[in-house]
Amino acid sequence: MTRIGALEAGGTKMVLAVYDGDGQELERLTIPTEAPEITMPRMTGFFRDHAVDALGVGSFGPLDLDPASPTYGNITTTPKLKWRNYPLLKGLLDGRDIPAAIDTDVNAAVIAEVERGAAMGCESAVYVTIGTGVGGGVYVGGRTVHGLLHPEVGHMLLRPHPDDPNPRGVCPYHDGCLEGLAAGPAIGARIGGDARDLPDDHPTFRIEAHYLAQMCVNLILTVSPQRILLGGGVMQRAALLPMVRAETLRLLGGYVQSPAVLEHIDEYIVAPALFPVSGLVGSYLIGKRALEERG
Ligand code: ADP
Ligand code: ZN
Repeated sequence: MTRIGALEAGGTKMVLAVYDGDGQELERLTIPTEAPEITMPRMTGFFRDHAVDALGVGSFGPLDLDPASPTYGNITTTPKLKWRNYPLLKGLLDGRDIPAAIDTDVNAAVIAEVERGAAMGCESAVYVTIGTGVGGGVYVGGRTVHGLLHPEVGHMLLRPHPDDPNPRGVCPYHDGCLEGLAAGPAIGARIGGDARDLPDDHPTFRIEAHYLAQMCVNLILTVSPQRILLGGGVMQRAALLPMVRAETLRLLGGYVQSPAVLEHIDEYIVAPALFPVSGLVGSYLIGKRALEERG
């Protein structure tokens, strides 16, 4: 039986799994993300013990995703210092020559949603997670976009909301970027507390919806996706999604003349169907594709 290993590598936890060739999950292990010397041996041990024939990885980044690069599969400039310039994919393979591939966690998530989730049948889609940070996976024409590096949707620049008491946001790199303005900690900084504790009608969610709508508008106008998926902890606030849809329509001002947007926005900006395992399932699909391409 074919066994495909999958890893969703996150800044706080690592989720590892083994799937059979039909996509049935056989094993799963979740461990905290500690220093590489602690975490890597546990992961290589898991994949070795389960004798995987291929490996797919969806990881936090930034990552080197150029297959021709000698540092392919490395984590690059992450603020998690112990993982900076760490050869993640090479380390996971531990000398084994099996088909393996890596993509960003959010690119993995969008692959899963296109193949098995809320974007099935779409040729283009964007998956954005709004949690501790903001990240976006971009899928166009059957593949995730890598390009220069890979999309960094979370750091697109936005216009400040006139009522935002903290219009520069909290990103250490940028004045007024999406992550700095709309991730969970940005809401926390704005209200001086935890976003989870607020009622749905708290004014901060109008500001939040406005920023997420600016993001949707920018994505619609640049990528022209057939669907936008919004996941992550902040989107567990169910009241946000309809606010984002309405604000997106308002900001677009009728410019994009597509019925998918103008008449069916409820099926256009949606929650991911596989959340919270979109990234893990996508990692499996990346591993499966690597196996098929090799064999
Ligand atoms: P991570 O990005 O680390 O994987 P999550 O996706 O779970 O984590 O996102 C965590 C963030 O989501 C926290 O900042 C938290 O305040 C925020 N969050 C979780 N639930 C809600 C909610 N119901 N309303 C608003 N924010 C929430
Ligand atoms: Zn930023």
